Amino acid sequence: MLRNSVSSLGAALLVLAAVSASYAQVPARPAIATTKVPGTDNVYVFRNGGHQSMFVVTSEGVIATDPIAYGRPTGGKAYVDEIRKVTDKPIRYLVYSHHHYDHIAGGRAFKDAGATVVAHRKAKERLDVLADPHTVPVDEVVGDEGRVIRLGGTILELSYKGLGHSDTSLVMRLPQERIVFVVDTIPVGTVPGRGMIDFHPLEAEKFIADVIAMDWATLIPGHPGPGDRLGTKKDAEDQLQLLRDASAEMKVLARDGKCWDQGEKEFKLEKYAGWPGYAAGLPFIARRYCGLWGRGT
Ligand SMILES: [Zn+2]
Repeated sequence: MLRNSVSSLGAALLVLAAVSASYAQVPARPAIATTKVPGTDNVYVFRNGGHQSMFVVTSEGVIATDPIAYGRPTGGKAYVDEIRKVTDKPIRYLVYSHHHYDHIAGGRAFKDAGATVVAHRKAKERLDVLADPHTVPVDEVVGDEGRVIRLGGTILELSYKGLGHSDTSLVMRLPQERIVFVVDTIPVGTVPGRGMIDFHPLEAEKFIADVIAMDWATLIPGHPGPGDRLGTKKDAEDQLQLLRDASAEMKVLARDGKCWDQGEKEFKLEKYAGWPGYAAGLPFIARRYCGLWGRGT
């Protein structure tokens, strides 16, 4: 009996060893990666963990966006170091996509390199009040009419489409390369989650429809899509449909008087159950739309 137990324990340990060996063979995903956007020779995606941002190298300098260094004290410097592997041109601009720290904390290294920090005017208002010690203040604001940055033959359009995810989001478009960088309002191939905390549901539908109507072929999201793939118009259309489906589903529950608890419990989006982030995101989506249709918020 004792012998049997010992041998089965031995067998279990062997299985465990085999399992950990097979895990060890899977190469760990590096925390930081810089990739050139296919079809371009000067547009890059910098990824740090689960966040990413775009930078553009021109003959007159670099336009960088979101430092993505919240909780990563060396993240901003690591980003600058990655840019330095590609070019020694000066970093002229650091453009914030919106005011959330997980995307814009850590800009000190860019400021030290001489960059001008650009953001929507409401982002500056919010950041000035919050005064986060890790987030570099805005130098130049973009009004609701937008702004165009021209540098070394590159054109970068900054457009304000109103409320969506946050009230400070800029849509960044490279018209020549037909690329847009849109953070958090249009996830690529994933179900939205915590981003719903600062989300204006009805306005976001208009925001996304407006972005779809713009001329572009490639969407760089602020969080990596499945397999790190970039997005297409189809992805934006699918995300818009997901929001419309969520809205319609909760509207019925809410008008039956089921918000908050029962409505949130019954809320499902089976069509999207196979998408990454479904289980984690569902409660956040439910809460936001329960607020909209059940409370008018
Ligand atoms: Zn955000």
